[in-house]
Parts: sequence; C-alpha cells; structure tokens
Amino acid sequence: MKIGIIGAGAAGLSAAFDLSAKGHKVVVYESAPFIGGQASTIPVGGNPLERGYHHLFTNDQAILDLMSDLGVAEAMKWYPSRVGTYTSGKVYKTTTALDLLRFGAIPFFDRIKLGLFALKVGRIKEWRDLEDQTADYWLRERLGGKAYEKVWEPLLKGKFGDFYDRIGMPWFWSKIQTRFASRQGIRGREMLGYPDGSFDTIFDKLTAAIKSRDGEIHTSTPVERVEVVAGVAKALIAKSPSGEKIREEFDTILSTVPSFSFPDLVDLQDDYKKRLTDVHYLAAVVVVLEMDRPLTKFYWMNIADSDVPFLGLIEHTNMLPKEWYDGRNILYLTNYLDRTDPVYSMSQDELLDLYLPHLTKFNPEFDRSWIKKVHYNALSAAQPIIGTNYSKAIPDHRTPVEKLYLANTTQIYPEDRGTNYSIKMGRELADMIIEDEQHGWKSWK
Ligand SMILES: Cc1cc2nc3c(=O)[nH]c(=O)nc-3n(C[C@H](O)[C@H](O)[C@H](O)COP(=O)(O)OP(=O)(O)OC[C@H]3O[C@@H](n4cnc5c(N)ncnc54)[C@H](O)[C@@H]3O)c2cc1C
Repeated sequence: MKIGIIGAGAAGLSAAFDLSAKGHKVVVYESAPFIGGQASTIPVGGNPLERGYHHLFTNDQAILDLMSDLGVAEAMKWYPSRVGTYTSGKVYKTTTALDLLRFGAIPFFDRIKLGLFALKVGRIKEWRDLEDQTADYWLRERLGGKAYEKVWEPLLKGKFGDFYDRIGMPWFWSKIQTRFASRQGIRGREMLGYPDGSFDTIFDKLTAAIKSRDGEIHTSTPVERVEVVAGVAKALIAKSPSGEKIREEFDTILSTVPSFSFPDLVDLQDDYKKRLTDVHYLAAVVVVLEMDRPLTKFYWMNIADSDVPFLGLIEHTNMLPKEWYDGRNILYLTNYLDRTDPVYSMSQDELLDLYLPHLTKFNPEFDRSWIKKVHYNALSAAQPIIGTNYSKAIPDHRTPVEKLYLANTTQIYPEDRGTNYSIKMGRELADMIIEDEQHGWKSWK
C-alpha cells in the first residue's frame, strides 16, 4: 500500500513507523517547518527544549514501548517532581501526600477528607458509570468545601481555563489513576519521566527509521485538500515549500489534523462533521523565560488564585539539569484559553507586561533583570474540551470517506490527551489500516 499521512506529530510519525515496518510506502506531509507537532522543540543553550513543557508519567506504557522498539529505552529517565500550590498570597509545598496533610490553606478535617476521597476515586474501576456528570459537579457534591476549592478546582481551572466546569468526570478519574501510578507512598514524591536529549530523541529516531525504509517526510508542506472520487479518498493536494501545488495519489490516507480544520480538507457527511465540530479546543499560550537564577524551588506550581493572569508556572530546571541549557534556568508561564480571548492575540511584549508583575508573588525578590531571553509560542489545538457522555459522541477513526482515517487528540478517551496516547493511537491506526486492507473497508457506523 502507499499511504499518505497528514501531520508529523506523535500520532502521524508513530503510524508511519509501523506501516513502513510492514513494508508499506509512507509519505508524511507536515505544514510546520519542523516535526514533533505539539511536542516539538526549540534550541535553548545548545540543546532542544519543548515549546510547551513536557513530562511523562510512570504508566505511559505506549511511549516506553515505542522507545524500546526504537532502541532508545535507556534514554528515559525518572525524576522526583516538586509541586507547590499558590493560594491566599502564599506558596505551599504540596509535593507528597504528607504535605497535603500539612496544607495549612484548608482546615485539617478537609485535608483528611481530601486524602480519603482520592483513595476512593482511585478504587473506582468503571469510568463509564461516571460519564454523565461533570468533574466539577461530581467533586463539588461529594468532596466540596475548601478541599475542592483549594486543590481540585484550581487544577481543573489550570488545565481548562473558563471551560473547567464542562469537563466530564472520566477526566478526573483517569488523572487520579495516573497520579497514583506515579507516586510512591505517603512520603513519596511523584516520579516524572523525561527522555535524555528531549522528546527529539524519539522523533529523530522515528524519522531515521521511516526514511531508512524509503518513507518520506515533507515539512513546510501543508495539505490543502483530500481528493475524493466516488466516495473513496484518492489523492492529497498540498503546497510545496516553494508554493507549487503538489498532487499525489494514495491507496489510503490518514489525517492527524485537529477536528476543527479537518472539514476544510474534505467534504464530510453532516452527522460525522457535527461530531468533529461539537468538540471545542482550547489554545495554549506559552512564554518560556531563560533566567540566570530560579524563581522558586518547585517544578510544578498549581495556581489557586484568579488574580494571577496565567494558569501554570513550570520550572523545568527544578527537575532537570540546567547545565543542559548552558546554565540557564528555564521557566514556562502557560495559559489555556479560547482562541477568541484577547490574550491569545497579544504580542510577546504585551504578555510580559501582563505576566511579569505577578512573579514577585512567587518570589518577592524577582527582578526583570533575571530574564536573559524570552521565547513565545501559541498553539491553536492544545487541549480538547471533553464533556459528559463522550463515549457516545466520539468521532470514529474510519471517516465517512472510504480509505480516509482520522486520528487526533479528540479521539483519546477517557484518558487526557498526551504524547503517550497519540503514540498508542498512531500505532493502533497502523494496525487498523492493515486490517482493513486485508478484510475490506468497514463503514464508520
Ligand atoms: C502546552 C502543552 C503542554 C503539554 N504537555 C504535555 C506533557 O507534559 N506530556 C505529554 O505527554 N503531552 C503533553 N502535551 C500534549 C502532547 O504534546 C500532544 O497530546 C501530542 O503531542 C499530540 O500529538 P498528535 O500527533 O496527536 O498531534 P499534533 O502534535 O498536534 O500533530 C498534528 C500535526 O499536524 C500538522 N498539521 C495540521 N494541519 C496540517 C495540514 N493541513 N497539513 C499538514 N500538516 C498539518 C501540525 O502542524 C502538527 O504537527 C502538551 C501539549 C501542550 C500544548
């Protein structure tokens, strides 16, 4: 088979890796000038660093398996993370379960309740029973009080911004499962994974393997249209880096583009299209500061204060060696927001003027002169908002157009999106494409 793949992120490249391993010809088109999609990197102090902070959890098995298949399993290293929570004008250490027991921002009784509650959710086996309620409602009803207000509500808001009260309960359930897997006992810190050499270690190996099997990866080559003949996907129409129109025929096409842009590439049956457009995406605005000293001693800061105009503060070099970045301390300031939010359209300088005055809340000595360099990234399809009863609304990988498949982050459920799950999905799609080739195309319904 000759397979055209749209997008060279974790999903597209993982699918290309497995399909090319089975002897199929793959051609990947990527609109950006680089590969890696949302997990792509920029050079900082001579080494690659993700545009948006990235780490892995101990139960991210699919990415570990892929690294093993690529011969780079030993590059994955595990680090204890340090977590803080900013609330009521103060930073609290909330790294271990014991820290939460000492978390003075909530009454003692609520702290006990919080711990018992997490254990209770951790024991729930069937997430489908939780599907018809939002996490916000479920937690407010069953946990409530300061324990919800100071711990879980800020986490939901930090992740989903203004859409925090629309998220289905399975998201919370899967978060608790992941967190339990990454923690070791009441005193234990959460262990987070990061590959030596950044996520590029995986993407570079994927690229080399695909190319060694006669596969092609074309960057700066956006696909503009999927050509369909008599209901069957036939060809991709793309624009070359020099602006010329390319038309290439394929036996099968896999798209990994976001749901909101897929209908621009191909005409789709209304009911399938509705499933795509019903899912709202949040964009991410990420400012990366290279500083000459750390701001705090924490890797991850939960922000439980609506006066702070960003949702997350991640100090990468409080978990990973700053020597990798020429001695610079790397601090990410991140926001998840609607693409219509004025903050999404702000320039780098406007964002700095908005954000920097708040950094003294985390360290009163902070001074702008600590910043040596600034990077700014905006990602339009950063976080899908997955609401209630989503298992009945999830778009099928097999689209209404024969031989055209879709694999994007809205099809990851009940887990939260992440590189691990895009890799898992990309590899499952490779199997599905091969199976359909052998047994015939199956309709999406
Ligand atoms: C700020 C931030 C922090 C994150 N932190 C983590 C983390 O800590 N751990 C973790 O595991 N995950 C994290 N993620 C999520 C993770 O990066 C993504 O879930 C994963 O990389 C998605 O991979 P994908 O291949 O499904 O999609 P994408 O990476 O979005 O890939 C899709 C690709 O398609 C390309 N494309 C789109 N349209 C076209 C077109 N018309 N023609 C050609 N190409 C096109 C895009 O340029 C892109 O490269 C984070 C994401 C963000 C935004």
